[in-house]
Amino acid sequence: MLEGTIKRAGLEDIFEKILSGERLSREDGLRLFESRDLLTLGRLARMVRERLHGRKVYYVINRHLNYTNICQNRCRFCAYWRAPGDPEGYVISPEEAVRRLSEGPPPREIHIVGGVNPELPYEYYLELLSAVKEAFPEAHIKAFTCVEIDHLSRISGKSVEEVLKDLVAAGLSCIPGGGAEVFSHRVRERLFPEKIPAERWLEIAKIAHRLGISSNATMLYGHIETYEERVDHLLRLREVQDETRGFLCFIPLPFLPQKTALSGEVSPTTGFEDLKMIAISRLLLDNIPHIKAYWVFLGVKLSQLALQFGADDLHGTVVEEKISEASGGREAKALSRAEIERLVREAGFEPVERDAFYQPVN
Ligand code: SF4
Repeated sequence: MLEGTIKRAGLEDIFEKILSGERLSREDGLRLFESRDLLTLGRLARMVRERLHGRKVYYVINRHLNYTNICQNRCRFCAYWRAPGDPEGYVISPEEAVRRLSEGPPPREIHIVGGVNPELPYEYYLELLSAVKEAFPEAHIKAFTCVEIDHLSRISGKSVEEVLKDLVAAGLSCIPGGGAEVFSHRVRERLFPEKIPAERWLEIAKIAHRLGISSNATMLYGHIETYEERVDHLLRLREVQDETRGFLCFIPLPFLPQKTALSGEVSPTTGFEDLKMIAISRLLLDNIPHIKAYWVFLGVKLSQLALQFGADDLHGTVVEEKISEASGGREAKALSRAEIERLVREAGFEPVERDAFYQPVN
């Protein structure tokens, strides 16, 4: 029966490759994106996710902290940033960060990212990490995207290696995957010319991996990028991963245009496209262990469905996240452990609470 549907979808050769564990090519990736047979894509991706993780779905008790919205990069797809001097701009002090993170259950993972704020000194970042680590010694701190790390290198005059070593000494455990957006030079020039180039993002990820610091990787899709550019993005990540094995998880992020400069020009992604993106990520990224259904951007209901389309990670409890909220992000602001476990069980999977490195915890 599976063979019949795969034949009708014209994907027999790709199915054979997946069965035998053979790597999919750029052309295969494009054919998958061009397919409209979503259920077949989902079945193929589910085969792969079950081979890797069985029925397990991971989640973490975590908190997000967005320490500043002041940013000099002015990306056109972002509704979060404010210019220096804007009355709506903010910076959270290390003390305030600890106070906010202390509300609610103790987190196992603390996710810290913010704008590229020209007014903050290098010491601020180290003080922020030290204060949070001191208050939550058991938690892993996943902080600062490659974009912020590049900025820290510039303002301190230190190399990326030195910056990373300083951050680790202050409490950093690993790096989040943001700032990758889409690696296409064409898209970067049109939507975020001030942001570091793709090559720099990948270089910083590689440096971190070589120092033993794991990271995640994202892709912001559903704006002006083409399918070719999506495939290229995924294959560039796969190439780095062949070299370093440092990426833990890939997170496809649907673009939320509502409050951005692209509102009216670009429509929000559809559920069909979101599930297709999850499935193809699982199929092309054969060397990145985890694919995340990031409910903060996807919405809770679609994230639950994404578990049947190749995702094995439902992210975490979150509580507060300002970046998607500024873009008119989805309904829920937080999920409890019980809510996450219910979503996972109802979809036919087994919830596994994890730490930042996907180690199961009680
Ligand atoms: S996406 Fe990040 S770097 Fe770009 S404007 Fe927003 S906060 Fe700044």
